[in-house]
Amino acid sequence: MPGWCCAWAIQSIWIGQAFEKSDNATMISETSKAWIQAGKLLAENPAAQVRCPEKGDGFLTVHDEAISGQPTRFERYLVCDVCGARNVMLMPA
Ligand SMILES: [Zn+2]
Repeated sequence: MPGWCCAWAIQSIWIGQAFEKSDNATMISETSKAWIQAGKLLAENPAAQVRCPEKGDGFLTVHDEAISGQPTRFERYLVCDVCGARNVMLMPA
């Protein structure tokens, strides 16, 4: 079963989504898909160059933060270096 070893990463839980513009339901859906795709890439390779899912204007920068009281998990923040769009994934440590 190819890719099984990476299944945990692909199934990371999205715990937060920040949408500045919510005027168009279709746009939210497309943007959500783009974030999920970005999350998969960055879960496997945090150094990957991934375009901003919101506007395609910059690249996502990644930083990880520990969650107090949860040693088995950490939060991975994805932040656009141009427009500041951001999202958070919950990752297994
Ligand atoms: Zn951006």
